[in-house]
Amino acid sequence: MASIRSSDGYRVGVAGHMTPDEFRRYGREVVDWIADYYERLESLPVLAQVKPGDVRAGLPGSAPEQGEPFDAVLRDLDDLLLPGVTHWQHPSFFGYFPANASGPAILGDLLASGLGVQGMLWATSPAATELETHVLDWLAELLGLPQRFRSTGDGGGVIQHSASDSALVALLAALHRVSDARTTRDGVGVERFGVYTSGQSHSSVEKACRIAGLGGAALRKLDVDPATQSARPEHLRELLERDRAEGVVPAMVVASVGATGTGAVDPVADLAALARDYGAWLHVDAAWAGVAAVAPEFRWLDDGLELADSYCTNPHKWLLTNFDCDAFWVADRRPLIGALSVLPEYLRNAASESGAVIDYRDWHVPLGRRFRALKLWAVIRWYGAEGLRAHVRSSVALAQRFAAQVADDDRFEVVTPHPLALVTFRLRAGSDATRELMERVNASGRMFLTHTVVNGETALRLAVGSPLTEQRHIDAASAELARAASDVLAS
Ligand code: PLP
Repeated sequence: MASIRSSDGYRVGVAGHMTPDEFRRYGREVVDWIADYYERLESLPVLAQVKPGDVRAGLPGSAPEQGEPFDAVLRDLDDLLLPGVTHWQHPSFFGYFPANASGPAILGDLLASGLGVQGMLWATSPAATELETHVLDWLAELLGLPQRFRSTGDGGGVIQHSASDSALVALLAALHRVSDARTTRDGVGVERFGVYTSGQSHSSVEKACRIAGLGGAALRKLDVDPATQSARPEHLRELLERDRAEGVVPAMVVASVGATGTGAVDPVADLAALARDYGAWLHVDAAWAGVAAVAPEFRWLDDGLELADSYCTNPHKWLLTNFDCDAFWVADRRPLIGALSVLPEYLRNAASESGAVIDYRDWHVPLGRRFRALKLWAVIRWYGAEGLRAHVRSSVALAQRFAAQVADDDRFEVVTPHPLALVTFRLRAGSDATRELMERVNASGRMFLTHTVVNGETALRLAVGSPLTEQRHIDAASAELARAASDVLAS
């Protein structure tokens, strides 16, 4: 087959495969592109500057018949795609929760892509499995999680795509555990099941109920304390009692540590004790906040975990590890594996049958899995516990500075407790004014934040977490909000 040449005469490769030399050349260009991107990130508007359809309108209608040089991809990235990118790593991106990226994580991810390993079984790449088990034991130790989540006992950790996957697999394990010998379906019983979580918890809990086939109606939403937005255990008790009387089997209670809207922290120990009394699984969703326990002053985030059946937190949110990396631990891996293990003949192998190895395909929904532990390992080794603590502390200190600035302005009120790096606040003038304020500051391109509803009123959320955010960005955000507030209140 003839060689295919790029416009500058560079050989793209016989049959189009990129040769190692070509990979070196373009790889350097890509790494330079990324480094340059971080250097100029602050000068870009935080939010994508496009209308629906703009990005597609710039792309050819059909895929190319002949291969193109990689420079063309980079050129189009700059010209066609970048205007449609919202810059999540921007120092003034304060929306949702952060989705941290970092140099070591990017490089670790690149190495995982380079190895191209598919670690579904221990036997398909022992290092992928053993590094994952080991790094999750490290992380459990760094966060001060109870011993029962370590792989050395009945429990252990696994990297899931996301906290939503963790909620789903926790529910499947819970259903497996509450479904006893009377069940007639594999894995899940035939009873009606109840799942309990607060009205502030993440929507992934409802989604898990739907995916698991229970339907959204299985979800019971717990009332929250109006001041703290944390779940009320008394309401859980009432719902469990009512369900039991009506023949509904309590399957799972989900406690949030750092709920999405306001960062509320549920009373895990109280919810866990009730879950245990009624035979339900207790899953703790600490997707955003959990990683802060890397600093001893935030270890209170772990309170009650010694009673939890499963726990998750996302290094891909606030611990400098590129998406996707959700760390999920179970205290007893048997119900999880019982729920998810299906063994076709082609996957049988001596190592699995020896019982001496972990096969992570049985710990999550897909069969295949990337070597995601590499990036988490790279992050932990690059920063060390000290660096991780410094990152979390810096975000918290900046958020506290912002909260104080907002509280100093009589036109605003801070809405909920803010012990970490999320501040919820509103204009005293009401929900309409608060929403208009958000639209104005987001349209400026200089910062981005999102909103929630607290006690029926709109509140804005400012979440700090980018490694690039400095005091001057917080001060600029406060000034931008103050200016926009004047405009909103004058109009
Ligand atoms: N749980 C909480 C508390 C969250 O804040 C979020 C996302 O922000 C999620 C779960 C879902 O996270 P993921 O994207 O990892 O599924």
